[in-house]
Amino acid sequence: MPTRSFLPALALGLALVVAACGASSSATSSSSRAASAIVSAAATSTTSSAAESPAASPASSTGAVACTSPATPTMAETEGPYYKAGAPENADLVQAGMAGTPLALTGYVVSADCTPLANARVEIWQADSAGNYDNSGYTLRGYVLTDAAGRFSIRTIVPGEYPGRTEHIHVKITPDGGSTLTTQVYFPGTTANDADGIYDPSLLLTMSGGASDLAGTYTFVIGG
Ligand code: FE
Repeated sequence: MPTRSFLPALALGLALVVAACGASSSATSSSSRAASAIVSAAATSTTSSAAESPAASPASSTGAVACTSPATPTMAETEGPYYKAGAPENADLVQAGMAGTPLALTGYVVSADCTPLANARVEIWQADSAGNYDNSGYTLRGYVLTDAAGRFSIRTIVPGEYPGRTEHIHVKITPDGGSTLTTQVYFPGTTANDADGIYDPSLLLTMSGGASDLAGTYTFVIGG
């Protein structure tokens, strides 16, 4: 399997700060659909307890925050053309009948000295499984606030690709009283990653779970 190299991270179930999975993308060439690659890779894992527990909450798959001070701040990326202000607070963006692979997007927001940042606003927006954004409403757009441990969890789907872009989820992180970090997160094992000029391996999610409880986690480090 091309995505075999990130399976140890699945077993650990930890949120990694930087590009622990970066090397895996360069070893990937055969998959044209990241969602199927991720699901199939996760489905073959026998070490993830989460894969055997469909009832596991997204938060439980986040694990302990992995952060070594001083941590490298998460890089900023372009907002792109499809951001729309005014998205509602919503921890579950999956609507009835929505196509696509459900995804628990979880993680932490921390400072560079690894202090958890509570009440940070984590907003995401993304394409649907066919690669289309909802530019008239707020489908697949919403935000949550981090808890006291700096943790967040949003239920969404794996986005589709659209021309010029690999699978990605846009993110804005706004610490309580702080300035906003705008960035994007990506999926390990997606063939289109390396052809996407905006993609950066430091922004890869760490994946766990299986087809019924796929989870992607990331620790956002907010620089000084
Ligand atoms: Fe986009």
